[in-house]
Amino acid sequence: MKDLWRLPLVELTESAREAAQQQHGDVVTYVVNRNANFTRVCQVGCAFCGFGRRPGTRGATSDTIDEVVARVGKTPWVTEVCLQGGIDPSLSPEYYFDLIRALREAYPSMHLHAFSPMEIDSLCEKLGQQPEEVVVRLRAAGVGSIPGTAAEILIDRVRRKISRNKLPAERWIRIVKAAHRAGLRSSATILFGHVETWEDIRAHFEVLRRVQGETGGFTEFVPLAFVPYENRLGRLLAQRDGGMIRLAERIRRRARRLYPLARLILGDLIPNLQTSWVKLGVQGAVDSLEWGCNDFGGTLYEESITRSSGGRHGERLEPERIEDEIRRAGRTPRRRTTLYGVVKNPFSLGKKSCQPSPEGHVAL
Ligand code: SF4
Repeated sequence: MKDLWRLPLVELTESAREAAQQQHGDVVTYVVNRNANFTRVCQVGCAFCGFGRRPGTRGATSDTIDEVVARVGKTPWVTEVCLQGGIDPSLSPEYYFDLIRALREAYPSMHLHAFSPMEIDSLCEKLGQQPEEVVVRLRAAGVGSIPGTAAEILIDRVRRKISRNKLPAERWIRIVKAAHRAGLRSSATILFGHVETWEDIRAHFEVLRRVQGETGGFTEFVPLAFVPYENRLGRLLAQRDGGMIRLAERIRRRARRLYPLARLILGDLIPNLQTSWVKLGVQGAVDSLEWGCNDFGGTLYEESITRSSGGRHGERLEPERIEDEIRRAGRTPRRRTTLYGVVKNPFSLGKKSCQPSPEGHVAL
């Protein structure tokens, strides 16, 4: 058996492309979704983050529930709302549950993808409850699945370097497993291109394989390339690497190897590998369809987290554009639900005709 970690890039890429082709054929999926980042207030202070604002500092604001509901109402055609924000010590636990209930009531057919394991950890602390109880309550309120963000690298030695106050790896694993066991599936992520080594990435993959083997709850794997332009960690690493351009090139080279490795090492257990046009740019995302990716991600409509770190690829992509890009890559676009169900009545392109598609109306 070949050692995938040592394969020449061309051979690795070709193997990943073939594996994706065998699993998914020409089809590349995407979801019509939107983000709603409801608070920028954050007490955690991750070195790689340009989004969070320390409480009491400039720009440290949280939205009211009515404001979030109104914002989501600007894109009534989306099938998913992804709710994530900073860790605002002044937000009550009720806020989170009321937000879910208000969105559920206003948009009953939208799938609510909320909250990150870090936010759930903070909710546990505020409520004095265990993750196993909190995820059941979130599901009862109307949450449909959770984002597997805040994973960064699931090795505490690395986490301490880039995000000292973040929940430990074991806590992330416990929350995600609890969510899966409560019937809430999640994505799985990795934040790469900073201080991690290939050994750390290998260990991270092993953790994800172990969790998936136990619960089967991951819907997809989403590699997230570090965006270095406007945050503390980026400035430090740029100094070390001889400038921002060199650092960006190093991150790009890492992405180029990591995606095919993810397809080949995780693909049997987590068949969906999602690219990120926000991190790689649209052309980079199109290129990554040759590196083993089979999902283009989503329309987003309100991308602010990556932009806050200096991301330069915009905050939204219309469904028409995503379909065009997938076709340009010689693939067949297919709109999906959050949980990778087939949308029964795929919309004829155009937002007006793109009606919400409840999870209940899909063939899973
Ligand atoms: S990544 Fe999340 S937890 Fe960390 S500082 Fe940014 S908003 Fe806060």
